[in-house]
Amino acid sequence: MKPKILIIEDEKDIVELIVYNLTKEGFTVDFAYNGEEGLTKIRNGDYDLILLDIMLPGIGGFELCKMLREEADLADIPIIFLTARTLESDKILGFELGADDYITKPFSPRELVARIKAVLRRTRPEKVKKEVIKVKNLLIDKDRCKVKVNGKSVELSATEFKILCFLAEHKGRVCSRQELIDAVWGGDGYINPRTIDVHIKRLRMQIEDDPTRPAYIKTKRGFGYYIPDDE
Ligand code: CA
Repeated sequence: MKPKILIIEDEKDIVELIVYNLTKEGFTVDFAYNGEEGLTKIRNGDYDLILLDIMLPGIGGFELCKMLREEADLADIPIIFLTARTLESDKILGFELGADDYITKPFSPRELVARIKAVLRRTRPEKVKKEVIKVKNLLIDKDRCKVKVNGKSVELSATEFKILCFLAEHKGRVCSRQELIDAVWGGDGYINPRTIDVHIKRLRMQIEDDPTRPAYIKTKRGFGYYIPDDE
């Protein structure tokens, strides 16, 4: 996923310059022209890093930084101060408030990009892909290839497991037999679509309370199978 960066800066030329350069680097970029607007965006967004000007109308950069660091949900978002103020005491204050870096204007776009990348490398651990899928009382642990229903383990064949994963990953959408065949056998040779029915039948015996009235794997007559969305 592209890192999402928020710029809070009141000088429109600078915002434009940064947006241009960061977008070119493949970042998703958003901006706000003052602290209040920035704070609202941060609370409603999911940013990987904030570029924060210090001299802003209304809530200033230092104050905003302090507010963010005190909000549990927002305290970990990396902040890079961006400012014309070059006083050492300002820098020190910035770092004391929990900034991750401090860039003084004028800056070169290349330096800015390099600094952002460095901060992201430090602060953004690879987002761990969630490999447990939950559908009501059904738990599918993709890493361990295990399935539990109502807390009890069920034994599935590799084929059944793959079918179940595919349906669960496409929850709410009807999957055709051919899609399931492609997902499980990868389009190697010819597999009779009815083979899927046999596996579905066995899957239902294992995971459904009443296989004749399935709650997890439903049939869409003439189309295929689906796991309904949780209500
Ligand atoms: Ca400013």
